[in-house]
Amino acid sequence: MRILHTSFECYPVAKVGGLADVVGSLPKYQNELNNEASVVMPYYNNKYVNKSQLTDVYKGSIQLAAVSYEFQVKQLKSKDFNFNLFVISIVGLLDRENVYGYEDETNQYIAFQLSLLDWILHNKEKPEIIHCHDHHTSLIPFFMKYCNAYVTLKEIPTVLTIHNAQYQGHFSFDKLNLLPSFNHNDIGVLDWYGSINPMATAIKCASKVTTVSPSYMEELKEKANGLEGLLRSEKDKCIGILNGIDTNVWNTETDPLLAKNYTQSTIVSGKKANKKVLCDTYGLNPELPLFGFIGRLVGEKSADLLPSVFKEVLTNQEINILVLGSGHQEIEIQLEALKNEFEGKYNVYIGYDEKLSHLIYAGADFLIMPSRVEPCGLNQMYSLRYGTIPIVRRTGGLKDTVIDIGDNGFGICHDQASVWDISYSINRAVGLYTNTKLFKKTQKQIMKIDNSWNNSAQEYINLYKSI
Ligand code: ADP
Repeated sequence: MRILHTSFECYPVAKVGGLADVVGSLPKYQNELNNEASVVMPYYNNKYVNKSQLTDVYKGSIQLAAVSYEFQVKQLKSKDFNFNLFVISIVGLLDRENVYGYEDETNQYIAFQLSLLDWILHNKEKPEIIHCHDHHTSLIPFFMKYCNAYVTLKEIPTVLTIHNAQYQGHFSFDKLNLLPSFNHNDIGVLDWYGSINPMATAIKCASKVTTVSPSYMEELKEKANGLEGLLRSEKDKCIGILNGIDTNVWNTETDPLLAKNYTQSTIVSGKKANKKVLCDTYGLNPELPLFGFIGRLVGEKSADLLPSVFKEVLTNQEINILVLGSGHQEIEIQLEALKNEFEGKYNVYIGYDEKLSHLIYAGADFLIMPSRVEPCGLNQMYSLRYGTIPIVRRTGGLKDTVIDIGDNGFGICHDQASVWDISYSINRAVGLYTNTKLFKKTQKQIMKIDNSWNNSAQEYINLYKSI
């Protein structure tokens, strides 16, 4: 089957969060199942793209309101992936360094989607499925179904995957002139509570809608920033499919970013060596249990609660904590401030660092993930594979992938996003750490859990076949 994934992120070309990991790995596994999956994303003026080989594939033009833009499709070749990857560049619009954060982002999203459709229109070999990821590419099903220019693409089935329903991409109707022409009787398809809402539009227009875990789909039907009623009414085409992880990239035996590689049988010495490097670098004590946190410092991840939690547990327990992340400035400042108070037991790296993240997954004893909202969550799956016990709040994909040790499971779970609950879980973790036999047995046990794409990649193929 010819599958075309459209996304603003794809690892390793451009990554902000889990979306990149999924789009960079799902096509790999789909191709291993004898499909022809490709990815189309914007061109970025970043390190990875600049050192890559780009081949011209197509040139065309699109119209955004009164402005016409020339665009180019180029193929980016790399040994890092086994699927075709295309980037679309537009001078002045799709040639930026960062993925998000620009004032004219709506224009960027629309321009990308129109260029992509123009290319498909002129390409002899059409995709058999167009798979759109998140709101940045969610107007594609509408354009294909309702806009005169793309009417010949109407029959190609489309899938929307919601990686995060917090961000829906809505913009005001005063930007309607950026969209290509369609019959104005259909304007209601774009409308959700008075503005143009790309995610809501795709829920209405796509052939199927998926979320990245079954529990997240159920939660969204109850609470989805205003989309809950729509998801309930479209429930027959909605399904949750759990993300997998790329077990070739996330492999303790071969991961080049680790200080020492290890297997299930060498886990003790392997984790010890990685922990030592972390502790030496960040001034921590390798004799104490090490708790890691990796992620965006935002309310969704309960990052606002972390300064109080850390103060509480570092005062009362002999533990180390190491944080890697960036986000709200106020949270960053509070987390930085704790460094002085708990020197030798606590440290934080504000920023994005792929290598450090791998080292933490390998060297930490526990990974803290108390998210308020977690559509799937990859960190807990990486930490399981690296023998690091996850401490999670039971929500979304965390609920689907981590079972509490008290329920014959292997992780530590709580229900409320509160300082008390998170601190209590950390205290339980310290108890587990001191039970050396159970702790070591659990570390080995979690490394064996299969969270690879093998099952989920097939589930997506079955879904495509059904449409
Ligand atoms: P989300 O997409 O909501 O941010 P996920 O758990 O789905 O969360 O994916 C997060 C991904 O981003 C993981 O691969 C994680 O290791 C990575 N990540 C998050 N923050 C950082 C950071 N500061 N440095 C390095 N990697 C990070």
